[in-house]
Amino acid sequence: MLRIQGVHKWLGQNHVLRGVDIEVGTGEIVCVLGPSGSGKSTLLRCINHLDPVDGGVIEVNEQRIGYELRSDQLYEQSERRVAKARQHIGMVFQHFNLFGHLTALENVTYGPTRVLGRPRKEAVAQARQLLAKVGLADKDAAYPSQLSGGQQQRVAIARALAMEPRLMMFDEPTSALDPELVGEVLHTMRQVAEEGMTMIVVTHEIGFAREVADRVVFMDQGRVLEDGPAREVLDNPQHERTAAFLRRVH
Ligand code: ATP
Ligand code: MG
Repeated sequence: MLRIQGVHKWLGQNHVLRGVDIEVGTGEIVCVLGPSGSGKSTLLRCINHLDPVDGGVIEVNEQRIGYELRSDQLYEQSERRVAKARQHIGMVFQHFNLFGHLTALENVTYGPTRVLGRPRKEAVAQARQLLAKVGLADKDAAYPSQLSGGQQQRVAIARALAMEPRLMMFDEPTSALDPELVGEVLHTMRQVAEEGMTMIVVTHEIGFAREVADRVVFMDQGRVLEDGPAREVLDNPQHERTAAFLRRVH
């Protein structure tokens, strides 16, 4: 489903990703942990092609969206290919970034009607189903400002799902929430996981990683330091840096 190979990324003078290799199989749930500045968000942005990579290859569904540095295989990124690859990826950010001037329902129908060209009636029916699924059936007419952070984040998840992605990526989806709202968002994410979605979740929620993730990847200074079955990495990390990080976030 997703293959990341030897990916390098520079941001200004910072060598932010220093040869990242990760593979994610269909239906796999991978949690990415790591200290602030280790490159987690940058990696997600590269996967989603919000940022081009400076080296290495990213393949989503066998569509290459990175490029090889080897000069004989210099890989040009075509706009169409990028747009197509991105369409299959749903993204949920730390800050909810819903459209503030649209209701919950309109936020969810926006992509399907505007981007996928779905008939409005069909998109509305699908959006109602998705809002019900995230526990917000009664909030379809509410504007983001009338919703709690947890509710907004659940709308954001419904909005991403409405595009029928093959891969869902979450970048610290609960870290901007009041503690009492974290559980409802994790519950929704768990539901999505149980339905077989392929997911990459950047999170500091170790409990979620332990219970829901198939694998945990620990990143440090732009590299993958550990990558293995969730419980193995969490309970028996191979590197002192991972152990120190886990002690801090517990
Ligand atoms: P956090 O846990 O705080 O979200 P992160 O692991 O997501 O951290 P990134 O946001 O990917 O880390 O940032 C990785 C590194 O890239 C950091 O050292 C950051 O300072 C640097 N960086 C990010 N954006 C830029 C930029 N526009 N120009 C230069 N350096 C940047
Ligand atoms: Mg980040």
